[in-house]
Amino acid sequence: MDFMDFETRRKEMVRVQLRGRDITDRQVLMAMEKVPRHLFMPVEMWNKAYDDAPAPIGEAQTISQPYMVACMTQALQLGKTDRVLEIGTGSGYQTAILAEIVDYVYTVEIRPRLLDRARGILEELGYGHKITFRVGNGHIGYEEEAPYDAIIVTAAADSVPPALVTQLADGGRLVIPVGYPEHQILYRITRRGDYTKQEQLLGCIFVPMVRDKDVNISDRYIR
Ligand code: SAH
Repeated sequence: MDFMDFETRRKEMVRVQLRGRDITDRQVLMAMEKVPRHLFMPVEMWNKAYDDAPAPIGEAQTISQPYMVACMTQALQLGKTDRVLEIGTGSGYQTAILAEIVDYVYTVEIRPRLLDRARGILEELGYGHKITFRVGNGHIGYEEEAPYDAIIVTAAADSVPPALVTQLADGGRLVIPVGYPEHQILYRITRRGDYTKQEQLLGCIFVPMVRDKDVNISDRYIR
């Protein structure tokens, strides 16, 4: 597998899996054509990096299906100067896509080892200066840097965490999968002053968000 091979496969992924469906946002298409998804996966998975599927990344977590990444990013309706909060860094692939499109991204991950690995590869690829990395529980968002124009959650919540809605700017969009384990739905919540608009986008399957009572995995590592 040489470098060209990956580039060809990536172009094919964008053509078939994204353009071939309903992804029309040019920034999303360009970002996904550029970012080397295989580098965010364990090397033994590289031959599957441009398949139409999620893949394991360790600690029982997954890197999302390319189409799902594209759908969620498109649904955020990003502008270059938008301030973006991501909950669930995981492999860091979605973080890279966001950093291709906007100037600055804040990303929160509850599993420190995953965050460290993601940070390593994102820095190696030159995105480090655009990203703040935090270990923490995404249910409470990241208040220090609020408000955000866009918030993306890449693990499934039981219900929409109120803190995330509070941390949206006026006109801000929150894209989040809700419901577990079955019948998850991807929602977009748009804040307009004191009101919110809720839209159901599509059915989806994500790993569950770790709840407050389970957070001992992060307590030990918080810095
Ligand atoms: N966007 C990632 C998806 C990773 S899977 C990717 O494509 O690689 C979901 C991630 O959410 C996992 O890394 C998991 O550890 C993290 N997560 C789960 N519950 C969380 C919580 N309460 N706060 C922050 N991150 C959480």
